[in-house]
Amino acid sequence: MRFRENIVNMKPYSVPERLPPIRLDKNESPFDVPMCIKKKVFEHFQTNPFNRYPEIDSMMLREALAADMGVDASQVFISSGADALIPEIIDLFEGEQVITFQPTFSMYDFYTLRRGLRMKELELDENFAIPNDFAPDLERDCLVIICSPNNPTGNDMASEKIRDILETGIPVLLDQAYVEFSDNDYLGLLKEYDNLIILRTFSKAFGMSGLRVGYAITSEKIAKHLSKAHSPFALNSFSCQMALEMLKNKELIKERIDFIKAQRDSMQDEFKTLSRVNSSANFILLKTDAFDFLFERGIAVRKFKGKMNEYVRITLGTQEENEVVKKLLKEFETKDHSWIH
Ligand SMILES: *Cc1c(COP(=O)(O)O)cnc(C)c1O
Repeated sequence: MRFRENIVNMKPYSVPERLPPIRLDKNESPFDVPMCIKKKVFEHFQTNPFNRYPEIDSMMLREALAADMGVDASQVFISSGADALIPEIIDLFEGEQVITFQPTFSMYDFYTLRRGLRMKELELDENFAIPNDFAPDLERDCLVIICSPNNPTGNDMASEKIRDILETGIPVLLDQAYVEFSDNDYLGLLKEYDNLIILRTFSKAFGMSGLRVGYAITSEKIAKHLSKAHSPFALNSFSCQMALEMLKNKELIKERIDFIKAQRDSMQDEFKTLSRVNSSANFILLKTDAFDFLFERGIAVRKFKGKMNEYVRITLGTQEENEVVKKLLKEFETKDHSWIH
């Protein structure tokens, strides 16, 4: 047996074994799928069998999403989580390296390295913005991945910067997993640029992390090839039905999004001195070493290795959870920890 070298060199994905009761570490929604929607879907499956394969390409969901976004269904691709689409997209293009702007979502590295490609990690500037001097090597670079709102920094990437990159002609994967919490949805760019792929998910704003539904929207030109490479039964019938029902109840979800945005802005305000940028997502990034302090008091937040080791990322939870976090963080910050910063 000979394993590919890039697999041998990979490190396993690790998460803490013991998680405290309040989990604000994965950018999940604090709200479960509403019971009325669950009931509808359970009812649907009283008469719809599980022994049959799902509809090919999740066609109904694909059409519902396309209608919602004003694009053609042939431009939409659905999978088990947005995550599963990342390697499919990386696979489309010729080249040796994938460009990302650090710090960003770690799964881009994971899939790039798994494929045996190199990472070209450029740094975001001091405001976590894309630097001005971006110039791809069109011979060797196969794809640029931009995350907006960016995980873990929370800020949106400016549309001018995204346009500048698109203008170079290099394929761009624009991950908008948190778009519902932001004012900048870049769908409009699809009309102007055929080298753009936008990624979205039901995991965050729609509170469906456990059901694994994500989708990509792209130009006709890219769709033509992605449609050949995309797995036809990528999404199971159950999750597909749940996503369809959730789409029909968007007003309800909108209320939840508005609530989370208000909680985010209030938390952001409270800890202005600890943050570098405003968040357009459902989490905030703070410069504090309160990780252990919070963990010992029953709250999991996200910490980082390397350059981001002075920061924690806190997902907005229920009002009660957010109040506990605020209170504890204030307590932590007013003790004399200033020498650490
Ligand atoms: C959570 C997240 C995803 C993955 O979403 P799934 O649909 O759950 O796979 C993708 N991109 C970013 C930046 C995320 O934070």
